[in-house]
Amino acid sequence: MSKASIESAMDKAYTNNKDVKEGKNADYIKELAAVDPNIFGIALVTTDGQVYTKGDISSRVSIQSISKVFTLARIIEELGPKAIMDKIGVDATGLRFNSIVAVEEHKGKEINPLVNPGAIAAVSLISGTDSATKWRHIREIHDEFAGERLEVNMPVYISEAGDNLRNQAIAHLLLAYGRMYFDPVQSTDVYTKQCALNVNAKDLAVMAATLANGGKNPVTKKVVVSPSTTASTLAVMATAGLYDDSGQWLYIVGCPGKSGVGGGLIAVCPGKFGIAAIAPPLDDAGNSVKAQKAIADVVNALRANPYMIQ
Ligand code: GLN
Repeated sequence: MSKASIESAMDKAYTNNKDVKEGKNADYIKELAAVDPNIFGIALVTTDGQVYTKGDISSRVSIQSISKVFTLARIIEELGPKAIMDKIGVDATGLRFNSIVAVEEHKGKEINPLVNPGAIAAVSLISGTDSATKWRHIREIHDEFAGERLEVNMPVYISEAGDNLRNQAIAHLLLAYGRMYFDPVQSTDVYTKQCALNVNAKDLAVMAATLANGGKNPVTKKVVVSPSTTASTLAVMATAGLYDDSGQWLYIVGCPGKSGVGGGLIAVCPGKFGIAAIAPPLDDAGNSVKAQKAIADVVNALRANPYMIQ
């Protein structure tokens, strides 16, 4: 992969997709409906730390569900891979990201950590005996993956915190099934705050590149998590990173991805690079329309699908 081939792939992906008009901003979190739908930025960071960007990389959006990946990685690092299987589950639910049916169906078992029920349970499992400590640990892992201090988007946090009855219901239902490991109200609150961390496309690409690099941030050179934690995290991303469209994504792109309703999307091409795009309008499954197209174009142009042996 030469510098010129990466630059050309990014240019084409940007130009070919910048006028795509499909999709709609998330509006169940009121503040997200007000975000500029024209924000469109792509960033790629190689495992040797080269950074490529195209389009708008100064605008920040809330990370939303992409945060679930980094909290999961921290728990696997703290408790080992088996704890997630025993206390949360790693199979895809095949249902929407905020499905209550998914919890009810298996009495709180098999709730994947990359959709809301499993992600709130994951926050409840993070080390710390109070919510302030849990939040500090969650923030720390995000900062280490990004290689910089991320800030909370307060309007998004306040907007969602005042309106997250569904997530609170999920947390209480999990508690009833013995699958919530800390106070459900406080766990939901910390979860909501982690979803409100603000990121631009470059921050997300560095986070993805850290996973592509076996857990070592290729920009700061800090070992954030181990290679084995990284492998376990990527497996869950492959099966559930784009909710009920995860199979379709893996089929087309081959690199584990994770989306968020803020419009961000990351994909990890192990050993090669991490890539991210931000574009707020979403499809019916809750994944950014433009970001999916742009990342698929770059990965395919660079023949970076890990299942494709050259
Ligand atoms: N904070 C959002 C929620 O809980 C995250 C969802 C998402 O990005 N899919 O609904």
